[in-house]
Amino acid sequence: MQKVVKFGGSSLADSNQFKKVKNIIESDIKRSIVVVSALGKRNKEDHKITDLLYLTGAHLKYGVDALSVFNIVKNRYFEVASDLGLNINLEEEFKIIESFFSSKIDEEYLVSRGEFLAAKLMANYLGFTFIDAANLIFFDYDGKINEAKTYDALQNILKENKKIVVPGFYGSYPDGKIHLLSRGGSDVTGSILAKASSATIYENWTDVSGFLVTDPRIVNNPKQIKEISYDELRELSYMGANVLHEDTIFPVQELDIPINVKNTNSPLDAGTIITSNPLDTTEIITGIAGKKDYLSITIIKNQKTPKLEVIRDVLDVLAKYNINVEHMPSSIDSFSLIISSSEISKRLYEVVAEIKALPIVTDVIVEQGIALVAVVGRNMALKPGISAKLFSIFGKNGINIKVIAQASQELSIIVGVENSQFEKAINAIYEGLVKEQNDFFKKII
Ligand code: ASP
Repeated sequence: MQKVVKFGGSSLADSNQFKKVKNIIESDIKRSIVVVSALGKRNKEDHKITDLLYLTGAHLKYGVDALSVFNIVKNRYFEVASDLGLNINLEEEFKIIESFFSSKIDEEYLVSRGEFLAAKLMANYLGFTFIDAANLIFFDYDGKINEAKTYDALQNILKENKKIVVPGFYGSYPDGKIHLLSRGGSDVTGSILAKASSATIYENWTDVSGFLVTDPRIVNNPKQIKEISYDELRELSYMGANVLHEDTIFPVQELDIPINVKNTNSPLDAGTIITSNPLDTTEIITGIAGKKDYLSITIIKNQKTPKLEVIRDVLDVLAKYNINVEHMPSSIDSFSLIISSSEISKRLYEVVAEIKALPIVTDVIVEQGIALVAVVGRNMALKPGISAKLFSIFGKNGINIKVIAQASQELSIIVGVENSQFEKAINAIYEGLVKEQNDFFKKII
């Protein structure tokens, strides 16, 4: 009945943060599997260790003096170890890393040392066993995690050690070479270990008390999300909300293990709970997220050709260039493809030329500068009046809607507006549907 607890870089920025982590872990005996990121920023101007390690690697690659950057890394770890009076031979650890500096150092190995050393410090401080992720998180050569091998390894480790600290963000290939997950990947390490140990909960400790309904850089002081479903979270992160690493959900979702996002600096706050089926029905809108810079390619087809044929041929062109389509609103003789500009920018002319060259296509119109806004909420389903309210909010605020999309599951409504109206749209939705939602909601139930 253990809990997996993952601490992000800001929770490990200095010795003071280490002390907070220790208090949190020692206040609950079930917090027995600990995953750590590399040391993060101590303040806004500071640098993350992971970034400094990438920079060290780049210096080494181009033959520029790397030690000045690497010494900053070393000092951060030495400082924590000495502040906390740890009994750990960091000199030796850094000697091993530096011994690879003269040869062609493997970047993934170098960068993984941020997490490796943070876990060494934390294990020593807590009196837990350090487990190298290279001996626990196993990848196949295609880069996918080998779940069976990883789960076996964890079971074996837990037979001998009840309390462990594991570095996040990396694992190893079958030949033992270190492999990194993508940035922010320690979230995924925690999730895999939560599944592998059938944990009761996966606590993800960070520097905020859970997720906010929307981006605080756009809306002043938005509300906190108390509960959210795995599916809602995926929608929001896909649409640009800066939350957990996007692969965090899958492992825990299979066993329905809740994730609790909590604040190391304010541990008594409830934070946000992510589950498959949140019980709270008091909020209609769970979150609002969005991204700028999409474009639409509208295809006017030859009236005699069946639409299916034209769509198939146009999608074949996109498949050839491996370009993903976000939405495809359509009418009788035309349809539009909504595509992220960054995804298509380098191939736009080729793609449009190829579509134009199709004999069944009469015209192609490209429009740039579209922003998509997603209004996400599991409690919107089967409640009439919500989209009417949403569109009236746009009307009242003079915001022109260019695209509308809602799948029949009714988990989200996606609206496309001009880039220049993006922030205004999010503020208007927040004011009208989140702040005032309680009165409105009472009327429609
Ligand atoms: N330290 C890594 C990063 O900065 C991984 C993590 O923190 O999860 O991306």
